[in-house]
Amino acid sequence: MFLKDMPRVKLAALPTALEYVPRLSQNLGIELYLKRDDNTGLAVGGNKARKLEYLVGDALAKGCDTLITTGGPQSNHCRMTAAAAAKAGLDCHLVFTSQDIAVRQGNLLLDELLGANLHFLGVDDGILAGERMIELAEQLKQQGQKPYIVPLGGSSPVGAAGYIRAIKELMDQTDLAGISVEYIIHASGSAGTQAGLLAGVKAFNLPIKVLGMSVSRPKQRLSGEVFNLCRDTLSNAGFNTTVTPEEVVVYDEYVGNGYGIPTELSIEALRLFAKLEGVILDPVYTAKAGAGLLDLTRKGIIPNDSSVLFWHTGGSPALFAEQELHWRPRA
Ligand SMILES: *Cc1c(COP(=O)(O)O)cnc(C)c1O
Repeated sequence: MFLKDMPRVKLAALPTALEYVPRLSQNLGIELYLKRDDNTGLAVGGNKARKLEYLVGDALAKGCDTLITTGGPQSNHCRMTAAAAAKAGLDCHLVFTSQDIAVRQGNLLLDELLGANLHFLGVDDGILAGERMIELAEQLKQQGQKPYIVPLGGSSPVGAAGYIRAIKELMDQTDLAGISVEYIIHASGSAGTQAGLLAGVKAFNLPIKVLGMSVSRPKQRLSGEVFNLCRDTLSNAGFNTTVTPEEVVVYDEYVGNGYGIPTELSIEALRLFAKLEGVILDPVYTAKAGAGLLDLTRKGIIPNDSSVLFWHTGGSPALFAEQELHWRPRA
């Protein structure tokens, strides 16, 4: 099937703004643009909205009436899936890879407001979460419902197609503004966003380097996942284009001590974006990508005067939850 024929439901406020940020540009010695996917709407915004447009489209095309997905207790993906379900008139079940957390803050508070059914797995185990989702789907089927399982992070060839479309949107904006982008830099977690962006760059034959800043996984693992998913996303969307492993660029130097744990540089990035441009990053994803941006420009790996696009993928609700609630189950 071709991208234009893939079922899609309008969920996001698109196009998102493409903004030049002069004060950060000057500070970093580059020409810096932001792509504001933190403003996609859908219960406070973020990158999952673009993936969910195709995932919910697929669910509806298959006659499903319930979305099931998984993530950590501060998962933006879970929150936006709950919002997408609400908007499309579907039920939603979320399987959290943690113990129950008594305090509802940040994303978890929004999940409850959005009317999702919350299930706590008790442990941080992705494989068990997958099994629990299948079990839940079976139970719901017996009750006469038609469940659709959305993979972790919405990262499948269907979901990642949202970021091929996003590259098309960006091309229209850069053409109109008469600018060219040499680098795209962004936070990379479950591989879908990077796979989709790279698929878009390849599909439209653009001279743009996509630099994924891992927020959790080691470089070798994430690069392999991005490569496989990029290849599958291209073929699923009907493109003959191929991608090579060398075109997948992942940095894992900015993860620090782990997912959701701030580093000195991620805190510096968060403060710098806020102070110089009034733009709020999130502590788990975009601040780690921001750390990468600062380091790569300061070291000249992204050369002076380069035209760089920082893709803001959202995540702000996590700022409003205590840091230990991000990743560690609470007894
Ligand atoms: C999920 C998420 C990402 C990473 O996207 P992937 O497609 O999982 O790599 C980046 N930023 C934010 C705010 C997210 O919620």
